[in-house]
Amino acid sequence: KKITIAIDGFSSTGKSTLAKQLAKQLEYVYVDTGAMYRAVAYFAMQNQYIGADFFDKKALIEALPKIQLEFKFNADLGFAEMYLNGENVEKPIRTIEVSSFVSKVAEVSEVRSKLVEQQQEMGTNKAIVMDGRDIGTVVFPDAELKIFMTATAETRAQRRFDELQQKGDNVTYEEVLKNVQERDYLDTHREDSPLVIAKDAIEIDNSYLSKEEQFQVVLELVED
Ligand code: C5P
Repeated sequence: KKITIAIDGFSSTGKSTLAKQLAKQLEYVYVDTGAMYRAVAYFAMQNQYIGADFFDKKALIEALPKIQLEFKFNADLGFAEMYLNGENVEKPIRTIEVSSFVSKVAEVSEVRSKLVEQQQEMGTNKAIVMDGRDIGTVVFPDAELKIFMTATAETRAQRRFDELQQKGDNVTYEEVLKNVQERDYLDTHREDSPLVIAKDAIEIDNSYLSKEEQFQVVLELVED
């Protein structure tokens, strides 16, 4: 059986943890579309198209054909890692710096259409769990199961802060909270495919659910 599961929602709601767990349990392919937007943002940053106080959209748009994105499965980790032009960028795309630019890069229509097309190719005729912002609305509007994850900004910032601290990233909780709130704003206010809940999506607020509880809730939905 082929089934598409779309998991959308705000940043740091535990979408990717849930999606990975589901894909593993069901033996589906997992695609983290946020990693693709992050890789484009990382590319833009490295080429000086974007920085704290500048963004040369035109240069990024012109360079888009030179950006090659690929997921390669890492058997030790049990999930696929993001490659940008042949280089493993799984680590650098998760820094707070990339997080602070990614929503601006994701606002560019040309970036979105390139990535959406690639996502549709990856998911067609496959059993897939895809997480992002626009999967149930734009990428796979006919997905058999759509989940929309929410949690308060403070809950999400605390989780991101704990993760970044474990990795040795030197950030404060306030910086992380500010980044989460800014991304929420940009993601919900952009012109092209703003983050909205699909009409037929099931909303899960995981502020008060453990990872295990939320996994069980979704697994039951899949089995329904
Ligand atoms: O999911 P993650 O937080 O890694 O995504 C990073 C950013 O990429 C989001 O804040 C959003 O701006 C953008 N994004 C998007 N559409 C997607 C996935 C991510 O615009 N499908």
